[in-house]
Amino acid sequence: MKGMMMHRPLRIADILTFGEEAHRDAEIISVTVEGGIHRTTYGKTAVRVRKMANALQNLGVKLGDRIATLAWNGYRHFELYYAISGIGAVCHTINPRLSAEQMVYIINHAEDSVICVDLTFVPILESLKDQIPAEMKFIIMTDQDHMPDTSLKHVLCYEELLKACDSNIEWPEFPEETASSLCYTSGTTGNPKGSLYTHRSTVLHSLTAGISFPETMRAGVRILPVVPLFHVNAWGLAYVAPLVGASIIFPGPHLDGKSIFDLMDSENVFSAWGVPTVWLGLLGEINNRGRIPKGFGEVIIGGSAVPRSMVESFENLDVSVCHAWGMTEMSPIGTNGRLSPIHARLPMSEKIDLKVKQGRRVYGVELKIVDDSGNRVPHDGVSNGELYVRGNMIISDYYNNPEATSAAMDSEGWFGTGDVATLDSNGFLTITDRAKDLIKSGGEWISSIDVENMAMSHEHVSNCAVIAIPDPKWDERPLLIVVPKPEQEPDPKSILAHLAKNLAKWQVPDDVVFVESLPLTATGKVSKLTLRKEYGETN
Ligand code: ADP
Repeated sequence: MKGMMMHRPLRIADILTFGEEAHRDAEIISVTVEGGIHRTTYGKTAVRVRKMANALQNLGVKLGDRIATLAWNGYRHFELYYAISGIGAVCHTINPRLSAEQMVYIINHAEDSVICVDLTFVPILESLKDQIPAEMKFIIMTDQDHMPDTSLKHVLCYEELLKACDSNIEWPEFPEETASSLCYTSGTTGNPKGSLYTHRSTVLHSLTAGISFPETMRAGVRILPVVPLFHVNAWGLAYVAPLVGASIIFPGPHLDGKSIFDLMDSENVFSAWGVPTVWLGLLGEINNRGRIPKGFGEVIIGGSAVPRSMVESFENLDVSVCHAWGMTEMSPIGTNGRLSPIHARLPMSEKIDLKVKQGRRVYGVELKIVDDSGNRVPHDGVSNGELYVRGNMIISDYYNNPEATSAAMDSEGWFGTGDVATLDSNGFLTITDRAKDLIKSGGEWISSIDVENMAMSHEHVSNCAVIAIPDPKWDERPLLIVVPKPEQEPDPKSILAHLAKNLAKWQVPDDVVFVESLPLTATGKVSKLTLRKEYGETN
């Protein structure tokens, strides 16, 4: 028997309309590219979004057209998220840290017809203009006074477009499976692959994220997404915040520890979201100043494994850490590390044992771990295997890339994450490694994450990475690459002795290399591919 309830398609535009009506005065505060801070509210933003939607339609943008953005975290980028998807076009966020070659590839692969660009990135597009369609339109995300001299053709000014339009719009109706936005992976191997989200998947992800982080996701809380709007929708924050009435503080182009500290301090940020490398910078600044930013209470860390020493540092400062795992292909949140009331009585060190794990699945994401023969492994916290996922917020296909799709999906329609993991009987996921980062030494697997975690707890180690290097006897051996703490005379023997105390003998790297900094991927993670190339691995 069919139920008798209305069917209204889930649409992104309705999120902001809700924010406008229910959380009108919650704020959007942005560090701008032009300089200074911009303040607005959901109420005022919704009006500008409707004007921009009209402007895009006046430019001829239609349902399904791909409209790209190349921009920092700021209020105009936020407006474009809603204006583009609201009229049924697809918001293709371009990661400015991709190589020129990758950027050209994705602009052409997506068949973008308009690119909305922050002033900072105009020179990048100028250098690529001969490799992308000549009829491409560019909307420069600034006002008339700041319009640059540029060699780009078909250039429009964002604020002038807004001025010319009114804010009346009837958001179009379309099926909820309509494509809403497009994000390419950073493509560490081969060309980037596109995840094409739908209105339905985005709204469901927003509802899930809203209930998965209840300390943050509520009216009045001030959130800092250091995670970029240009990659995986800033982990969905631009959609969740208007639903729950949280205020957003956008950091713009300034992402170093000092700038982040100052912004958090002056804007009273409670909850900050980003990858571990960002928090190393902030912890350095906290250390220099001897205090945390005013109002800081929670940090959500994901994108790569959070080292235990980082969890300890924040928790010792009374900043609660929540570790989260996910992927571009998953919208992206898959798990989160919130503890249950039952864990409240645990001693701190046991709480930290749990917080270092990747956490438990969020609603809407199913997890399975299989061995090499495709059989599910027991949830005993020890049995390892490849992690597969299934759910309404996970891609069914890569955008226009059947080869990548068939390589990723199993015969039951689950998506293979490429991560190796364990699940314990309480549902806590531990990512042992990315399959390609595991080290196979004398037939035994070594988790680079385990060795890195241990090395990070040495007092002279500021950051580190462990990679496989070829070895004639053992096939592969781990190599430890360390960024020492400032003003420390690094001593390889002391670091290796520290590892030997805590790891099995064969897991201890034979050597340590000291470097000033580690190479990062386009999404701000340590680039092991670059390190492997540099230190002699062949694949
Ligand atoms: P990229 O484009 O950099 O691959 P993604 O965000 O899609 O961006 O990367 C997803 C991958 O990042 C996961 O498959 C996993 O290997 C890694 N990852 C994400 N979060 C975590 C985490 N909390 N712990 C360990 N690895 C993580």
